[in-house]
Amino acid sequence: MPGLRIQQVTRRFPGAVAPAADGLDLEVGEGEFLVVTGPSGSGKTTLLRLLAGLESPDSGTIALGPDVNWHRRSPADRGVAMVGQQPALLPQLTVAENLGLGLKLRGIGATETAQRVRAIAVRLGLEPLLNRLPALLSGGEQQRVSLGRALVQRPSLFLLDEPLSQLDAPLRADLRREISRLAREFRVTTILVTHDQAEALELADRVAVLRGGRLEQVGVPAAILWQPANRFVAEFFSPDGWNELVGTRHWQNGEGEFRTASQRFSLPSAEDGEGSVTCLLRPESFSVAAAGDLAGTVQRAWPGAAGWRGEIGTPFGTWRVHLPSGDPPAVGSEVRLAIHWERALWFDPETLRRLG
Ligand code: ATP
Repeated sequence: MPGLRIQQVTRRFPGAVAPAADGLDLEVGEGEFLVVTGPSGSGKTTLLRLLAGLESPDSGTIALGPDVNWHRRSPADRGVAMVGQQPALLPQLTVAENLGLGLKLRGIGATETAQRVRAIAVRLGLEPLLNRLPALLSGGEQQRVSLGRALVQRPSLFLLDEPLSQLDAPLRADLRREISRLAREFRVTTILVTHDQAEALELADRVAVLRGGRLEQVGVPAAILWQPANRFVAEFFSPDGWNELVGTRHWQNGEGEFRTASQRFSLPSAEDGEGSVTCLLRPESFSVAAAGDLAGTVQRAWPGAAGWRGEIGTPFGTWRVHLPSGDPPAVGSEVRLAIHWERALWFDPETLRRLG
C-alpha cells in the first residue's frame, strides 16, 4: 500500500519573493522514517504544516494511501499527530490527563482511554509520573509526554518539528533512540524535521534535503553523506567544515593524476570525468604519515574523542583536520598528511554537480 505521495506542491506566502515550497515531489513509504533537513528558511516547517493541514498548497496534491484528496481534509480529519520544539502540555492537567486528552476529544470512552494511556506510559517509562502536573517534570520528561500524547492517538502520519532542539546533549541522545524505537514499533509513517545533520543520519530511513523550498536530494543516509548530488548537499553534510582543492584530473592506463596549480597528486583509482574539478575533503579524510601527500604546519591542535583535531597551514590555505590517533602536536610543528582519496568528493566547478 502506498504511503504519502506529495506531487508538485507549491506554497507561496503573500508578499514573499520566493515560494516556501516550490513544486515539491516526494513519496514516503508506509511506515517509513523520513528526515527532512536543510538550512534555516529552506521550507522544512512549511512542508510539515502543509502535511498537518495548517497550511494549504496553492497548487499540487498530497495523497495518503488511496485518498488522493487528502490535502483537502481538515487538520482534525487527517489522523496526523504533530510534536513541536516545545512540549505544549496543558499545565492544569496531570500527565495522564494530558496523554488522554486527544482520545477524550475524539469521543473515546473512559475505560479505553485509561487502558491506552497506561499502555503508552509503560512504553515511554512515564508510569511513575502519571499523576504529576507538567510543571513538576523536567524538559525531557515533558517532551516524552508530548511524544506519548501523539502516539496514543495511533496517527496515520507522525510529524516531528525539531522535537529535540530544546534539550541538552545527553537527553537529546536518549530521546533520539526513543523516537527511533517508537516509530518502528508503531510502524507509523514518520517525518521528522531537523537542522542537525547527525540526527538526520542517525534516525532516517531516508533523508530529504531542502533548499529554498526545493528538494536538492532524497536518499538513504550513506548516499547523502558519500554520494551527495551536488556541492550544496556535500557542504551541508560537512558541519565541521571542509578543505578545497581546484585543478584538473587526468587518467592514463588506469592511473589517475590530480593536478593543482602548485602540486600533482596521484589518485588510486580511475573515476569518471576528466578535466576541471573541485575537490572537497572533509576533516576526516586524512592521516599523518611520513610519506604523506601534503606538508603542513600545525596552527592549532586540541584533543578529539579519538585522536586530535586541528588546523594545519598548507600550501592550499588553512585546513581543518580530525586525525584518528595520537596526542595533539605542538603548535608550529611540521606534519605530513596522507590524503584518503577514497573519501574525496569531486564536483564540476560550473554545474556544482558531483562527479564520480
Ligand atoms: P527554520 O529552520 O529557520 O525553522 P524552515 O526551513 O523551517 O526554517 P520555513 O519556516 O518553512 O523554513 O520558512 C520558509 C520560508 O517561508 C522562509 O523564507 C520564511 O520566512 C517564509 N515563511 C514561513 N512562514 C511564513 C508566513 N506565515 N508568512 C510569510 N512567510 C513565511
